[in-house]
Amino acid sequence: MNVLEMADDLKLKTAAGGSKGTHSENQASEGSSQKRAKIVVEIPLKRQPSGPRRSSQFYYSDGNIIVVVGGVEFNLHLSRLIKHCDLFSDLYRSDQVQEAEQNAAKASDADGIRSSHLISNGPVEQEKAVDSAKRLRYELKDITVGDFTTFLCAFETPLQNEAISLLRVATKLRCGTVQKVAKHRLRTLWPLTAPGNVRKKKNLHEATTIIVIARELDLPEVLKRAFYEVIRNPSFWDLLVTKRANVKLSDADVLNLYHVRHVLQQEWRALVLTPPSPGSACLAPQEKLRCSNASRARRAGHWRSHFVETGDLEKGAADPVCYVDAILEGPFFKKPDGTWCSECLAERKAAWEGAKVRWWGLLDRLLNIRTEAEADAAQ
Ligand SMILES: [Zn+2]
Repeated sequence: MNVLEMADDLKLKTAAGGSKGTHSENQASEGSSQKRAKIVVEIPLKRQPSGPRRSSQFYYSDGNIIVVVGGVEFNLHLSRLIKHCDLFSDLYRSDQVQEAEQNAAKASDADGIRSSHLISNGPVEQEKAVDSAKRLRYELKDITVGDFTTFLCAFETPLQNEAISLLRVATKLRCGTVQKVAKHRLRTLWPLTAPGNVRKKKNLHEATTIIVIARELDLPEVLKRAFYEVIRNPSFWDLLVTKRANVKLSDADVLNLYHVRHVLQQEWRALVLTPPSPGSACLAPQEKLRCSNASRARRAGHWRSHFVETGDLEKGAADPVCYVDAILEGPFFKKPDGTWCSECLAERKAAWEGAKVRWWGLLDRLLNIRTEAEADAAQ
């Protein structure tokens, strides 16, 4: 079975998605193939006020070329297409990539107000053009949306798909050498370490796929990161409500995930609402270096209102492990405005860093995941 077949096969087995919108590329391909109706989608397909529909799975906010297939827009990375596909390296040069990157950055804010008009100057230019936001636009003809989506599944996540194929076959053949290589690759993709301040989340389909595979092929060490990626993905919680059958995780896993999310949210709120040096006065040794909030009562109130007003209290609850870093690396801690002294902020910084480590440690037990030592002992 090759990688493409593998990708298709995986989707049939895990099929953790389905659009909750009324239109999707899945449904567009329904007539041609029942199989493709099961292609997983992460985010509901958005319909422009006018013009083509967007791919729900492959519309990257930082993409810099719109590839249109069967009336569906895919926002992709041109540099990768040029590197791996001769069609695109024949069509575009590196200076065009740079320009496209700049335009993509500008366009991401004003997204949504775009024309589907293609500039037509000749046989090639009819397909290769720019949109009103000056983003490159390429129309790919005679390819179905389903085929192109399947291609992108393998193209965008070759490491995971290949490693899964290798692991499956090696397990069947009891080939320890290849098993080791494949497991190493999957562990690298889903490390045991806590994610940092990363805005780019892993694809929900990849995460649910690896959870199913980890159970099937006994690879518990990838589960923690994969489960956390599921927990922090709002599409997962939407999907549970709208299309539970498409989420190929067991009821036990889903219940666990609800519980873990609840525990993490409680932990997060308790941490964020705790002022520096709780219950005590400012920690600065000298009067002139102290926080501007002197009284204990005012200290707690000022601290809390800051995180409520900025929205951080609510936003971070969806992804506490990463949001801790986002705030610690942001202006509040890095460039304090004088409201809080450096001693008090340092005390909170240490508490927040400690909380992140503790939460990440909690996940093994909360998710009933065997630890690395237990996994090694079982081998
Ligand atoms: Zn202070």
